[in-house]
Amino acid sequence: MIDQETIQRITDAARIEEVIGDFVSLKKRGANHIGCCPFHNEKTPSFYVSPSKGIFKCFGCGEAGDVVKFLMKHEHYTYPEALRWLADKYHIEIKEEEQTEEEKQRQTERDGLFHVSEFAQKYFADLLYNDEMGRAVGLSYFHERGLSDEIIKRFGLGYCLDEWSDFTDHALKAGYSDTVLEKTGLTVYKEDTGKKYDRFRGRVMFPIYSISGRVLGFSGRVLSKEKQAAKYVNSPDSDIYNKSRILYGLYQARAAIAKADKCYLVEGNVDVISMHQSGVENTVASCGTSLTVEQIRLIKRYTSNVTVLYDGDKAGVKAALRAIDLLFAEGMHVRLVLFPDDEDPDSYAQKYGSTKLQEFLAAHEDNFIMYKTRVLLEDVKDDPIRKAELVSETARSIALVTDMLERSEYIRQCSHMLKVSEEVLSTAVARAMGAARQKAAEKDAEPEAQPSQQEEAPKQQIVEPARPLSAPPEVERHLVQLLLNYGNETLCQTFTAEDGSQQETNYSVAQIVVSDIRGEQLSFSHPLCQRVLEQCGLMVDMTGKVDTQYFIDSNDDALRTFCATVMMDTYSLCEESWRKKNIYPPKVEDNLLKDVTDSLNTFKSIRLAQMIEERRERLIGASEEDQMQLLAEIKHYSDIARQIGKALGFVITPKH
Ligand SMILES: [Zn+2]
Repeated sequence: MIDQETIQRITDAARIEEVIGDFVSLKKRGANHIGCCPFHNEKTPSFYVSPSKGIFKCFGCGEAGDVVKFLMKHEHYTYPEALRWLADKYHIEIKEEEQTEEEKQRQTERDGLFHVSEFAQKYFADLLYNDEMGRAVGLSYFHERGLSDEIIKRFGLGYCLDEWSDFTDHALKAGYSDTVLEKTGLTVYKEDTGKKYDRFRGRVMFPIYSISGRVLGFSGRVLSKEKQAAKYVNSPDSDIYNKSRILYGLYQARAAIAKADKCYLVEGNVDVISMHQSGVENTVASCGTSLTVEQIRLIKRYTSNVTVLYDGDKAGVKAALRAIDLLFAEGMHVRLVLFPDDEDPDSYAQKYGSTKLQEFLAAHEDNFIMYKTRVLLEDVKDDPIRKAELVSETARSIALVTDMLERSEYIRQCSHMLKVSEEVLSTAVARAMGAARQKAAEKDAEPEAQPSQQEEAPKQQIVEPARPLSAPPEVERHLVQLLLNYGNETLCQTFTAEDGSQQETNYSVAQIVVSDIRGEQLSFSHPLCQRVLEQCGLMVDMTGKVDTQYFIDSNDDALRTFCATVMMDTYSLCEESWRKKNIYPPKVEDNLLKDVTDSLNTFKSIRLAQMIEERRERLIGASEEDQMQLLAEIKHYSDIARQIGKALGFVITPKH
């Protein structure tokens, strides 16, 4: 457990735009920073970070919260893990309170994996320079491949001695347990003999880093000529390492990717390092797996432009076709650079140097769909059936392109290449898009997995699934906004006292809003607005202040996202829609007091109109006695409404 005071110090120190900026490429816009949401797939940024309010909010998928919530969501940290991460970043010492056994266990396990991975990286890197074999075998290999000492150090490269269990023995001596060594896969335990050995023995080591620079695992390349040894061996998946969610080089490349707004995707680790050394630092590789959607989304946090670099051989390109379709489906702009036969980015850079490499990349970017069509067309020759297949295959690829203009350009160029009319191809594309939509709709319509007999809840407990809430009335939303953003601002109200003198009193915005609505015994019509109002009322009663953190921390997703959305809203939005309805435009900056009182009056007038209207409807068919009661109420509400109308300068009429 971390004590409250430390938590406060951590959250005070954490700057949300800095923290989120470690994971998402953010651009400053006005008071906010915006970027593409890391939690859903999007092309245009709708992810807002407000430094002054300390919250983030995605207007696409609704995800929202504070800096701790972000880390929990994004890095799958627990609450204490997120705090520890922040404490580490901002150099705040944590005074530990007693942890629960379960917390200790989990923390110790993950920490153990991180620690031993870091320990291993340092050990292997040390051997590379300070051990005779390390220098003779490992370092000379890297030097032969043209890597400088500077880049070797930047990527933390190392060497694992070709001995049975040198690393394992060393780690055990340093106090690491068999369990963590086995879990990270650094040590392999033979079940039958009980023997243990180093997984990576005799290999040069490429550590794999998380986006924040922690060592998660390794990729080891064999140097001996043994036929049966795999060229590359990677760490097995563990609690900290998941190969489908990691890109090799991303930690070193992320800033360059964001800056260039482009990411080069290559095949191998050495290609990545070689490209970096040649000054093309926006380069990553999918590591030990074919490209996954998760990896694409990692890239997408920084850019939506990907250029795929592949070896000249056709087998490599065909194997990559699926990955490219995947990139398109994720809304990426994909281009391709094909190297001449027998060359790859590494060998090309070696042979011709970095300037030539960069020139080559700039001159040979090709449009991938065109390329794919050309490659496949070579196989088709004049076979009409296979050509028809190719047309629909091409159409399926084009259908994945999300940008309409881009799509029609592809249709134009590909139809030319395939020697079919544009109409034929665009019809095929439309059909492919329709089929994809159909498939998506069917997937959505699939019923949820039925609970098994035993789990079925008793009848009376089955509740109607909550219908999605409609948007709140603007004025209620605006009052919630005033409560959350300005609730603790003090306003000075002047009034005439009984003796005729002018008196001043100070109230907070929240006090005024809460007591005014309570005083008229009104409530917000929208359930979320009403919950905020009630909660703020309680807070004002208890402490005199509104604590917005309560809403941002709420485990209720609907409440949390609603409040964050409202808090992030800019005034102009509100103003615009109010003006359309011929209601005055509120301007907080100009006059908070006027905004509060006018908003309250507007709210009351609308709400009163609703209540009057409701009672009018009930008049029909009511008993004489009820009618009298209703008419009295209507008169009562109308009187209040008239008073408010006078204050607002317009006449309130119920809707008919
Ligand atoms: Zn989102």
